[in-house]
Amino acid sequence: MATKLLVTFAICRLIVTVGLTLNPTELLRLGVDGQLSVDPADVESASLDFGGVSRVEPMAVLHPASAEDVARLVRSAYESARGFTVSARGHGHSINGQAQTANGVVVQMSGRLGSRNPEKPRVLEKMRYVDAWGGELWIDVLRSTLEYGLAPKSWTDYLYLSVGGTLSNAGISGQAFHHGPQISNVYELDVVTGKGELLTCSQKQNSELFHAVLGGLGQFGIITRARIALEPAPQRVRWIRVLYSNFTTFTHDQEYLISLHGQHSSQKFDYVEGFVIVDEGLINNWRSSFFSPRNPVKIASLGASGGVLYCLEITMNYHESTADTIDQEVEALMQKLNFIPATVFTTDLPYVDFLDRVHKAELKLRSKGLWEVPHPWLNLFVPKSRIDDFDKGVFKGILENKTSGPILIYPMNKNKWDERSSVVVPDEDVFYLVALLRSALDKGEETQTLEYLSDQNRQILRFCDEAGIDVKQYLPHYTYEEEWVDHFGDKWALFHQRKMEFDPRRILTTGQRIFKPSF
Ligand code: FAD
Repeated sequence: MATKLLVTFAICRLIVTVGLTLNPTELLRLGVDGQLSVDPADVESASLDFGGVSRVEPMAVLHPASAEDVARLVRSAYESARGFTVSARGHGHSINGQAQTANGVVVQMSGRLGSRNPEKPRVLEKMRYVDAWGGELWIDVLRSTLEYGLAPKSWTDYLYLSVGGTLSNAGISGQAFHHGPQISNVYELDVVTGKGELLTCSQKQNSELFHAVLGGLGQFGIITRARIALEPAPQRVRWIRVLYSNFTTFTHDQEYLISLHGQHSSQKFDYVEGFVIVDEGLINNWRSSFFSPRNPVKIASLGASGGVLYCLEITMNYHESTADTIDQEVEALMQKLNFIPATVFTTDLPYVDFLDRVHKAELKLRSKGLWEVPHPWLNLFVPKSRIDDFDKGVFKGILENKTSGPILIYPMNKNKWDERSSVVVPDEDVFYLVALLRSALDKGEETQTLEYLSDQNRQILRFCDEAGIDVKQYLPHYTYEEEWVDHFGDKWALFHQRKMEFDPRRILTTGQRIFKPSF
């Protein structure tokens, strides 16, 4: 009864606020068990994201109680004579309004609203998988699986992201070199297509939809459930950082470490990442809290060429029962690396604390009012054959020793990516993620402003284009169809064909700006 009243209230508000853009009679017939809201606070929150550079108000926000609620809404949009758009929103951590929509409804997948909400993660211990609601945050997936001593295999660096949000992109971190991205670790999905059908899909069942949705930027359906592969959870992590002044030595070591997987060696690190240090020293950004402020190491003292240092970040997981051998195992691998002697920084911590490391940095930044600022991030996949040119042109060139945030760099093996998925990566066996995770400030130096940093991003893309470095954007952002056609390259025809099949009215996820709705 209360739900019906809320929906009726929402519809009345819709009629007042949006006139005839949405057909109110059709929405009244929705009969959702969740909440269709036009509460200004809900609408405001759905119109923003982490990037802080795009603001688009939806007509209403649906807090679904089930996958059927999502299906009812999308079916109504699909069958409506006038049509309206529908966008799933996970935790709103996109940079460029990818989960926003005007003239439509945002489905707020993350966040629970009382007892009518979608199920909590369900672990099948024997089968080593977890079934999670599409809006579930990875931190909550982890908490549930740890109750069974299990954990997902492939991660993102930050866990306050939704399952549906990262699977719509790829989901990568330092484990991707051997486990592949998160999209390579999914057995099955429930998806509401753009026609409002709720379908189960996997490698064997509705496989075209399965592959389309993984890395599909929300274009083919809304993920309401994902079955995610699990492994026994390690208890502890040995976490090591070492420094390099020579880029080629640094990337050579990174590539060596990720090649160990291919050789089926039991001796390997479980996580390989790295970052570039181009400015004030080793304590300059929110990803380097690891280095103590008392640490005397400074770039100048290490002979960095062009004022740039590179930090390799590696971990080895272990159980307390094998703690006595961890030192030797780490040492054996470290001996094969060529970092600057005396720059080894080691810590040891519980597995959960390692996985949840960025959240600590978030809390610190929030306390200083530095989290909710604009984030003109640029994430690129760079082919291995051109990473040296990228270093010279960007890290030692365009950035001019200023970064305004962490710059991550780590290689991945392409054979861990399923070519049938929608995501596009460079056409080489090994490619790097380069992530410029910048925060803009309106006060302070000119080099920290949103305008300056956005312009620098454009400069970097132009440089790659002119130098013929065939980068692919990760978490891509384009405005024109030609740019998307170029981005997808050989995959565009298939991407387009899948769109016509699964979302023929092009009502889903218009915030990606790939297709325009057909009404
Ligand atoms: P949203 O921003 O809410 O949505 C992203 C896109 O997916 C939108 O187009 C939306 O419509 C669509 N979508 C959302 N839910 C669904 C669904 N259920 N079904 C279909 N489509 C859906 N990424 C990495 O790979 N590795 C990292 O280490 C990493 N670290 C990050 C750290 C921070 C601090 C931040 C802010 C982002 C990071 N990201 C990382 C990027 C992140 O994975 C993407 O921005 C992701 O989309 C965010 O998830 P979200 O739940 O907030 O999605």
